[in-house]
Amino acid sequence: MRAFVYSSLPSRVVFRAGALDDLAAEIDRLGAHRALVLSTPEQRASADDVSKRLGARSVGVYDKAVMHVPIETAQAAREMAKSLNADCCVAIGGGSTIGLGKAIALTSDLPILAIPTTFAGSEMTPIYGITAEGQKKTGRDPRVLPKTVIYDPLLTMTLPANIAGPSGMNAVAHCVEALYAQDANPITSLMAEEGISALASSLPRAVSKPDNLDARAEALYGAWLAGACLGNVGMALHHKLCHTLGGSFNLPHAQTHTIILPHAVRYNRDAALVAMARIGRALARSDLPGASPAATLYDLAQKIGAPLALRDIGMKADSLDEAARLATQNPYYNPRPIEYAAIRQLLQDAWEGLRPG
Ligand code: NAD
Repeated sequence: MRAFVYSSLPSRVVFRAGALDDLAAEIDRLGAHRALVLSTPEQRASADDVSKRLGARSVGVYDKAVMHVPIETAQAAREMAKSLNADCCVAIGGGSTIGLGKAIALTSDLPILAIPTTFAGSEMTPIYGITAEGQKKTGRDPRVLPKTVIYDPLLTMTLPANIAGPSGMNAVAHCVEALYAQDANPITSLMAEEGISALASSLPRAVSKPDNLDARAEALYGAWLAGACLGNVGMALHHKLCHTLGGSFNLPHAQTHTIILPHAVRYNRDAALVAMARIGRALARSDLPGASPAATLYDLAQKIGAPLALRDIGMKADSLDEAARLATQNPYYNPRPIEYAAIRQLLQDAWEGLRPG
C-alpha cells in the first residue's frame, strides 16, 4: 500500500499575461496599505513601475538586492522597512530579490507579494538563505512564504537568453530531485513531471525566439510547478553539489545547476528507476532523442546554449578534490549512497563538460 504525507502550502497564485495590472487589487486583498518595493539595481525601472502602479500604497523602493542575500543588505532593507512603517513587501525580480523579501519577513512577519521575473521558483517556497561571513545559511520558515504570487509572463520577455535558459534548467532540477526525494508524494510527483514536461518543451523555443510569449508563459508555468516541488519536498545530491559549488567556490547559481544536473541524474540512474522513467517520459516533449534522461538533460542544456563544463564558469581543476570532500560531508538524503570516489569522478566529468553516457 502506498503511504505518504503531503502538506499544501498556503499561497495565492495569479497567472496570466498582463497580471501585473492586478497588483493594486492584490495588495488591497492582503489588507496592506504601505508597500516597500524591492529589486536589484538592474531592475530599478521595473520597481519604479510597480511603485507607480501602487500609487499611495507604495512607501518606497529598495533596489540593492544581490545574489545570496548578504546580511548587511538584509539589515539595511529591514531598517528601511521599519523606518517607513511598511506593512508589506513587493519583490519584483528573481530569486535574489525574493530572497531579500524573505530576509525581511523572517524578522518582521511582513507579508510578501512576489512578482517573479526568472524561473528560479523561490516565490513558492518557505526556504530562506542569508550569507554572513562568507557562509550562506538556509532554513525553512512558513513566515517567509510569499502570501501572493503574481506570475506575468510578459515580465520574463526581457530576460536575456543566457539567463533564461540556465534559470529554466534550475527549475528542471527542482522537479527532477522531487521525483526521487525521500519524502516524495504523489501530488508533488505529478507537479514535477508536468513541470519537466513544460520546461523541456518550452525552453528551446523561449531561448531561440525571445519574443515568443507562449514559450515564455509555458516556461513560467513550469517554473511555478518546480518552485512548488522545491517548497514541498527535500532535495538530494544535485542540490547539495550546487550549494557546495556556489557557496564555497562562488560559481554562478543557475549555470552550476545546468552543468551538474545531467551528472547527478546519471549518478542516481540505477537507484531511482521509477523516477528515471518519469523524468524520461517528461523529457520526451523536448524532442531530443537522448539515450537516457541524463544524456537528454545534457542535450537540452546544449540546445539552449547554456554552459556545459564547470571549467567554463570559473571552477579551478585544483579545487575539485576540496569540492568533493565538502560535498560528501553531512550529505543530504540521496537514493544512491554518496561515495567520495564516485562524487570526485562526477565532478571531473562535469568540469570537463562530458556528455553522460
Ligand atoms: P537573480 O535573481 O540573481 O537574477 C539574475 C539577474 O537577472 C539579476 O541581475 C536580475 O536583476 C536580472 N533579471 C531578473 N529578471 C529579469 C528580467 N525579466 N529581465 C532582465 N533581467 C532580469 O537570479 P535567480 O536565478 O532568479 O536567483 C538566484 C538566487 O535565488 C540564488 O541566490 C539562489 O540561491 C536563490 N534561490 C532561492 C530559492 C529558494 O527557495 N529560497 C529557490 C531558487 C533560487
